[in-house]
Amino acid sequence: MNTWDAVVDVSNVCWSPVLPPVGRRTPVWHRLDLVLAAWRDLHGAAARFTLVADESLVRALDMATGYQGLRDTGELWTRPIADALILELARDDGLHVITRDHYIDYRLQHPWIENSPGRFHRWSVTGGRVGIEPLDIVPASAQTISRAIEARDLKRTRLHTNDPEHRKILGTRWKCGNTLCAEAAQWQDQLLTWPVVTPEGTVLCPSCNLPLIALGPRDPLYEAVVELRDSRKEIMRFPLEVNSPLIVGRGSALKGVDLAGGRASSHPALMRVSRQHLLATIEDLSGTTRRMVVIDLESRNGTAVERWTGAAFDPPRPLSPNRETVIGSKDRLVLGGAINLRLSGKHYVTYPGRAEPAALAVSHWPGAENNATVTG
Ligand SMILES: [Zn+2]
Repeated sequence: MNTWDAVVDVSNVCWSPVLPPVGRRTPVWHRLDLVLAAWRDLHGAAARFTLVADESLVRALDMATGYQGLRDTGELWTRPIADALILELARDDGLHVITRDHYIDYRLQHPWIENSPGRFHRWSVTGGRVGIEPLDIVPASAQTISRAIEARDLKRTRLHTNDPEHRKILGTRWKCGNTLCAEAAQWQDQLLTWPVVTPEGTVLCPSCNLPLIALGPRDPLYEAVVELRDSRKEIMRFPLEVNSPLIVGRGSALKGVDLAGGRASSHPALMRVSRQHLLATIEDLSGTTRRMVVIDLESRNGTAVERWTGAAFDPPRPLSPNRETVIGSKDRLVLGGAINLRLSGKHYVTYPGRAEPAALAVSHWPGAENNATVTG
């Protein structure tokens, strides 16, 4: 075995918007080649790679054939959630780990992580060139955790769309820089839920309550509303940026929008939602129209759609797993028979002075039957 053999967090690499094409928030297969080449430049051509990806990666990937080819030859391992396998392989085979994830949720199960910070490496891009640098694993010490808990006492205020300062906050892309926070491990390298704000206008991470880093204006965006199906009680809203796919599911280790957000105990209905339940994308069709496309990721309790007829909802019809379904703007998704998910009707355009045709407002999107089977 070469001392520079490494296990690669392939989903994390392919999704990473810091790699070329820089800023694109969908997974790109070629990003894997860039990172492997950078590692070999640094540690020699003899270094071997163990590639591990989440099964959901292929649903949003630009080049599914690259993924399937390596998977079929046994060079790429896939799991519903790759993290556990990545860490087991690294531990058992003494491999380096190429990732930007600090695996906070696995620190208890894998105490060796904090004892071996030198085995964790991340990619970075300087002057267009992809390089490798230490990930800087920091022990999740009691001190750092108590700092975040204290912050919970901070006052918060609701974000109002009629307040110009709040509109600016809603239209800004944010990032949590706290590597001990699950939000900092998102593949899109940005906060996927709405931030919280103090009465003084300080913008905070909703998970760890520490101040967020502004990344600049967002692409045009919409908003999803999540409700309990029996009582219609709203439990959260989250932004959906155009052409930026999101995994919706449950649990803090999820790379995506966690519908539970730590609330699973208060809403047993949320337990019906799978860890990775569905993939949702607002697609832009040549700038003239938009639509919402949803793929059920083989969730345990399934996803159904209730079509809006103009006067009432049709009875729920189950989505076939792994198939793209176009969701109309008034249609409603039902997750695990217990949670409703719909669009709010809000449409944000964040570039000053830019307007969009009325056809891009949510009220104009038609629904459609299941159309394409997604390969994988
Ligand atoms: Zn955070």
